[in-house]
Amino acid sequence: MQSKTLDQLNSNIRCAEQAAMRDAGSVTLLAVSKNRSAEKIRDLYHAGQTRFGENYLQEALEKMHALKDLPIEWHFIGNIQSNKTKLIAEHFSWVQSVSRLSIAKRLNNQRPLHLPPLNICIEVNIDHEKTKSGVPVPEVFALATKITKLNHITLRGLMIIPEKNHADAFQKTFLLQQELNTRGFKLDTLSMGMSSDFEEAIRYGSTMVRIGTALFEE
Ligand SMILES: *Cc1c(COP(=O)(O)O)cnc(C)c1O
Repeated sequence: MQSKTLDQLNSNIRCAEQAAMRDAGSVTLLAVSKNRSAEKIRDLYHAGQTRFGENYLQEALEKMHALKDLPIEWHFIGNIQSNKTKLIAEHFSWVQSVSRLSIAKRLNNQRPLHLPPLNICIEVNIDHEKTKSGVPVPEVFALATKITKLNHITLRGLMIIPEKNHADAFQKTFLLQQELNTRGFKLDTLSMGMSSDFEEAIRYGSTMVRIGTALFEE
């Protein structure tokens, strides 16, 4: 049952790529598995899904333990408290929700040396929402510049969680990435789009859609 949902979702992503005249396979699916069981993750893994995103460290660690026989690529996408950075740096391949230099430095210093550099996205507060996390747009360049100097993390791109009626959030983020690359960065990742809006995000250049509900609930 779940593999049918996964196949359907992948085919919707391929259609959206094509409609946007993007290369087939240019958009990666991150399965957001917060609040979902290890068994469900295992089923999806056997159906072909290898990348999973988690928001809560303790919950993620329990599932990683239960699934340690599988070479899953784990992404941390939740709020980061500074006392949790060590375990995050040790157990994840990606951290998409970095919005402070102090957190980036801790992840860098705590990344085990036998592992490849930790992949990082800067979470951008693209809507200028007061209550939400993420870096304000005018501060992104300075933060990106400092993160790039750290050796054990690799800045891969930008991540956004836009508000409901986000109008041009996707396009603004795309233009921000382009501007950064014009100024010398080599960002290849735009993590944007969720269950309700991933097709629109793909139209505006998303390279990674983070999908929970549409994948786990039929
Ligand atoms: C939960 C979550 C998602 C997935 O949202 P759905 O609407 O269930 O697809 C994506 N990104 C983040 C950061 C989340 O917390």
